[in-house]
Amino acid sequence: MSELPYPYEAPASQALFDRAAAVTPGGVNSPVRAFRAVGGTPRFMVSGTGPYLTDADGREYVDLVCSWGPMILGHAHPGVIAAVQDAVARGTSFGTPGEGEVALAEEMVARVAPLEQVRLVSSGTEATMSAIRLARGFTGRAKVIKFAGCYHGHVDALLAAAGSGVATFALPDTPGVTGAQAGDTIVLPYNDLEAVRAAFHAHPGEIACVITEASPGNMGVVPPLPGFNQGLKDACAENGALFISDEVMTGFRTSRAGWYGVDGVAPDLLTFGKVMGGGFPAAAFGGRADVMAHLAPAGPVYQAGTLSGNPVATAAGLAQLRLLDDAAYAAVDTASARIQGLVTEALAKEGVAHRLQRASNMFSVFFTDREVRDYEDARRQESFRFNAFFHSLLADGVYLPPSSFESWFVSAAHDDRAIERIADALPAAARAAAEATAG
Ligand code: PLP
Repeated sequence: MSELPYPYEAPASQALFDRAAAVTPGGVNSPVRAFRAVGGTPRFMVSGTGPYLTDADGREYVDLVCSWGPMILGHAHPGVIAAVQDAVARGTSFGTPGEGEVALAEEMVARVAPLEQVRLVSSGTEATMSAIRLARGFTGRAKVIKFAGCYHGHVDALLAAAGSGVATFALPDTPGVTGAQAGDTIVLPYNDLEAVRAAFHAHPGEIACVITEASPGNMGVVPPLPGFNQGLKDACAENGALFISDEVMTGFRTSRAGWYGVDGVAPDLLTFGKVMGGGFPAAAFGGRADVMAHLAPAGPVYQAGTLSGNPVATAAGLAQLRLLDDAAYAAVDTASARIQGLVTEALAKEGVAHRLQRASNMFSVFFTDREVRDYEDARRQESFRFNAFFHSLLADGVYLPPSSFESWFVSAAHDDRAIERIADALPAAARAAAEATAG
C-alpha cells in the first residue's frame, strides 16, 4: 500500500475493493466512485441515515454527495421507506401499466409547466438518449448541438467533451464510440451564444436539437449566464430545432419545478432522473405533447423498457416528490447556504484562491481566482488543492464528491449537528489545500 498517496486507513473498505477489483473492472460500477482522481481507498458504504453515511469500517461521514443528487430528503427518510415497503410487499415488477406510474407522471406534469407529457425510463442516460432520438425523429434531422463540459450520461453521441467522469479522467474521446455515432454531434463552448448562432448558420436545416444541462453541475457548478438558456430557445425556434433541457441533476432539486422554476425558460423537451426516483432507478423525458405524440405506440419513434415505470421505483419517487414541499426546499436551501458560507470562510482565512459557484442549492468550489464560465475555465483550476482538501475532510468524517468536477449536494436532513461537524473539519482542510503542491 506504500505507493498510495494517502494513508491506508480503511481496511474493511480496502478488502472489499480488492474483492471487487477481481470481478468488476476497476472495482466499481461507475468510474468516479473509484477515487482515481483523488487517490486512496474508496469507502464502501453499508448504511445511510439522514445526512450521514456509515462505511464498512464503521466510520460515519456527513454526506455531501447524497448519491449524486437523489437523496434530497436525506438517507432512509421514513416516508420514502414506508412507501417502498408498501410497494415491495405487493410485488416488484409486473410488466403491465400500473397506477403508481400514472401518479408519478401526474405529479411531475403538475410541477413543471412545459412538461405536458412524460415517458418514464430507468436512468438519466436512457432519458437523454431517448429525447435525442425523438428530436431527430420529429425534425427529420441528424445533427445535435451539445456543450463541452455538459454530461448527459454515457450516450454514444453525447460523450464528446463530456463532463463528470469523462472530465475527471480527461478522456478526450471514448474508444468504442465510432465516427458515425459522434459525427453528427457539434460540441460548442458553454455560455457562448455566438458559437450557437454560427453553428446554425453553418448547418442550415440540419440541426435537430440543442441539448444542454439546465444549469451545469458536471464540470463543477457553472450556471448559465443571464439570457443564455433563453438565447438557446430562441435560436432553436428560429431554426426549426428543438431545445432540450437536461434536468436530470437540477430537476426537483433546484426548486419544486427544477431549473425551469428558477429561470422560467420553457424547453421543448426535458429530461429527468435522480430526485424523481427517490434513490431508485427511475428517470424520464417529456415536454410538448405534439412532440411526445411521435413516440411509440402513439407515433413511429420507438422507445421501450422492461422495467420502465417499475412499481417500487415509482412509489419511492412519488413519495419523495410529495414530501418535497416548500418547507423541505427551504431547509435544503438554508443548509446549503450555511455550508457554502463556512467553506468560503475557511478557505479565505487560509488565503486559498477559490471560487465558490452556486446554482440555487447546488454548489462547488473551484481552486482558481477567476470566474468559471465554461469547461476551459474549469480545467484551469488547481485540482491538486482539491485533492488535499478532499482527503482532509474525509479523514475528519465529511464525504465530498471525489472529484473537483462535480457539484456538491445537500439534503433537507443536514441539520445543525451535521453542519457543525462540517464546520469543525473545514479549518484543517483549508490548511491542507493551502499547503498542497502540484507535484
Ligand atoms: N444528465 C445529467 C445532467 C446528469 O448529471 C447525469 C448523471 O449524472 C445523467 C444525465 C445520466 O444519468 P444516469 O447516471 O442516471 O444515467
